[in-house]
Amino acid sequence: MQASTSNGVIAYFVMEVGLSSRIPTYSGGLGILAADTLRAASDLNLPFVGVTLLYRRGYYKQILSPDGKQMEEFEDWDPSEHLIRLPVEVSIELEGRGVRVGAWKMDVRGVSGFPVPLIFLDTNLDANVPEDREITSFLYVDDRVCRLKQEAVLGIGGVRMLEALGYNVRKYHMNEGHTSLVAVELLRRCEMDVEEVKRRCVFTTHTPVQSANDIYPYHLVNSILDGIVPEDVLRKFGGHDALNMTLLGLNLSGFANGVSKRHSGVAKQLYPGHDIKAVTNGVYPYAWVCGSLRALYDRYLPGWSSEPEILSRADLIPDDELWQAHLEAKRDLIDYVNQRASTNLSYEALTIGFARRATGYKRHTLVFSDLGRLKKIGGGGRLQIVMAGKAHRNDIQGKEMIEAAHRCIRELSGHVKAVYLENYDIDLALKMVSGCDLWLNTPLPPYEACGTSGMKAALNGVLNFSVLDGWWIEGCIEGVTGWAIGPPPD
Ligand SMILES: *Cc1c(COP(=O)(O)O)cnc(C)c1O
Repeated sequence: MQASTSNGVIAYFVMEVGLSSRIPTYSGGLGILAADTLRAASDLNLPFVGVTLLYRRGYYKQILSPDGKQMEEFEDWDPSEHLIRLPVEVSIELEGRGVRVGAWKMDVRGVSGFPVPLIFLDTNLDANVPEDREITSFLYVDDRVCRLKQEAVLGIGGVRMLEALGYNVRKYHMNEGHTSLVAVELLRRCEMDVEEVKRRCVFTTHTPVQSANDIYPYHLVNSILDGIVPEDVLRKFGGHDALNMTLLGLNLSGFANGVSKRHSGVAKQLYPGHDIKAVTNGVYPYAWVCGSLRALYDRYLPGWSSEPEILSRADLIPDDELWQAHLEAKRDLIDYVNQRASTNLSYEALTIGFARRATGYKRHTLVFSDLGRLKKIGGGGRLQIVMAGKAHRNDIQGKEMIEAAHRCIRELSGHVKAVYLENYDIDLALKMVSGCDLWLNTPLPPYEACGTSGMKAALNGVLNFSVLDGWWIEGCIEGVTGWAIGPPPD
């Protein structure tokens, strides 16, 4: 069936998209969510188009020394193996010179097969000077100048590209402040008619962590964007003293949301006076169920992949068959771990999984706070731990946390087997969320906006053991879906 696009499409703007381990244009939950959203849009036959950037060198590949020192490698990949180059270019002005922006396309399909186009913008074109060709090289660059240029390519270049490709856009969905320049380009186009811009824009804030929130001094904004709209307009909507991209997105959108009930409450405290609704994230079931469980669901819950509500009847699956399917996933994981790291994890031990971006609030080392007690509880081969996670190139604290985890793992040796795997990616995530027995999550509240990996574990029948933050406040039924760590928030 062809979706009707006569009423216009929904354009979904996002800085990262994580469709597959082989397309390394993602860092974590935001990108995975974007890919899952595009697949869901496919199954719903929505008139939808995604817009993101083409990072030629990806995020980075993580190498860990034996004592847990992180090193980073480029991820050179060949876009032409996955994407189609489109014969169209648009231009934007940055630092007073024209920068050409090209586009690549991929059709994202859910189980229905209905194609949802995803456009990757690329400045690596012969027509650009070398510096500008590098704008879209890396995801989450630290250099503020390059970062703002990326956001200009995505927001301003993205709106122009959709127009050049002939899309009639009904709604612009801006995900996170990285994409807020969409609204600025729209303001310019409709001669500062703010109500018109708000009617067309939707904004989602994805994290309360301040370092993820882009704020630029106006002298930088002026030197790069050079009067795309008058500065007083930017100051009015993006903050008087500096340009706060989240505030800009919130002020220029007719609807805004956070990504769980708890997170929308936290976001409202951070941005008083804004009506920030809650739309709890989800995961795309077909992408996040392992092979053995898929086969079981196909047998007992036919149609589940296109109609995930059917999974609410999972009680129809006999317990022993569910357990056998789980053990198959567990063996896959253990074999994989033993082969990749020089360990000898066992099929029998209770296996705790923990994997997420290694950044302060995720607290990778909390499970190791009392090693004596952990040895007492888990010694004798009763318990084993599998961990993973990358730290951002410049996140010193995150890198130290990985090293600290390695020290604890060494101290546990001879008592509790534990291993930290290199280069957490989509493939490893699926192995871990399906093959562990227990999915551990210990964020520092209220910083876990949602935490979708726990949902992936639940889809595979794996129990969650988590601090009550993000989605888990909504998902925890104590003793049924898993267990809570610590008290509920006030
Ligand atoms: C699901 C996923 C995430 C996000 O999960 P969190 O629970 O928010 O950490 C991050 N990285 C990868 C590779 C994932 O698959």
